[in-house]
Amino acid sequence: MDTSTDAASAVSRETATEVSRETPPAVSPLTSVPRAADLVSERVPEHALASDRSTPLAQATEHSLAVAAGRPLRRQLPRPASSRVMVVANQKGGVGKTTTTVNVAAALAQHGLKVLVIDLDPQGNASTALAVEHGEGTPGSYQVLVEGTAMDEVIVECPDVPGLFVVPATIDLAGAEIELVSLVARETRLRKAVDAHLAECAEVEDSYDYVFIDCPPSLGLLTVNALSAGHEMLIPIQCEYYALEGLSQLLHTIEQIREHLNPRLRVGAIMLTMYDARTRLAAGVADEVREHFGTVVLKTAIPRSVRISEAPSYGQTVLTYDPGSAGALSYLEASAELAHQITEQQEAQAARPEESR
Ligand code: ATP
Ligand code: MG
Repeated sequence: MDTSTDAASAVSRETATEVSRETPPAVSPLTSVPRAADLVSERVPEHALASDRSTPLAQATEHSLAVAAGRPLRRQLPRPASSRVMVVANQKGGVGKTTTTVNVAAALAQHGLKVLVIDLDPQGNASTALAVEHGEGTPGSYQVLVEGTAMDEVIVECPDVPGLFVVPATIDLAGAEIELVSLVARETRLRKAVDAHLAECAEVEDSYDYVFIDCPPSLGLLTVNALSAGHEMLIPIQCEYYALEGLSQLLHTIEQIREHLNPRLRVGAIMLTMYDARTRLAAGVADEVREHFGTVVLKTAIPRSVRISEAPSYGQTVLTYDPGSAGALSYLEASAELAHQITEQQEAQAARPEESR
């Protein structure tokens, strides 16, 4: 199965001639991609807004006030029955993996859910954005992977977002790709650690609702460890010309992992990032991705936003840096969509006749 190659070439063909910044036509293809201003449009699923029918301005105000007061948001999101372990991967660099990881994690935590971020990238960008110590030698994902340290010995809480916990990554992790090669069970060391930790948490009835693993931009042993440990993938796709190039390789790797290491792994969600509503190119890429991958693509696209890119330099996510910004609201909405997938899946399962289950 190599459907992604078709998608990639389709995008190349369709969009190559459309790199322009012209005013979009009256009936714009952009209508399929909700932006911050569309947050209460009818295209956002009914249930996603069931407890929040306010305007974007009111949402921005509510979010800013909640963050300033350090209280959870009014809107309730469903808790999954068991921890959802999501791998944020795309071997293409700079597509928004880390930005998506930290902002979705913070958004879910701000709704009162318990969230863990495992930083598995030697660059340590997620650790920076979440303001946790990650200087050389700080205990983190390197110790878990290479030295077999238990996860609860390295987990720290994000200072700005209650309920958000982090396994930091240090530069030590850069050597792990090589060191892992000679270790026993080199592809499944993270899974062992994650499963053991989740079992301990379940025993004391203090489970994480979500675990996100932020991967480096490669398909090496670090990413393979993440894919072996995860239940679902969250794939960020940048709305740019080369967006789908390399996606076929990622899908092929997923197939291999499913076959040999982790049969439960599936693509849970695709998130469109750095969406620039002024360009036809972004709309073209978004349409192609939606056509190819269907409902797994989240309806909310994340806009290109200066506030999102500024936030990490202050050791923050955009959700605390500028809670009322369009970027923050988009991440809140995308996270709500992600959380409601569970309800949709349960409803679909309940609707299916007994014999087909
Ligand atoms: P790497 O492959 O190096 O790990 P990545 O896939 O994790 O990269 P990010 O680090 O999240 O990508 O993002 C790449 C750059 O794009 C960063 O400078 C980030 O601040 C910026 N960026 C991400 N999302 C947005 C956005 N929606 N608007 C503006 N800038 C963004
Ligand atoms: Mg990154």
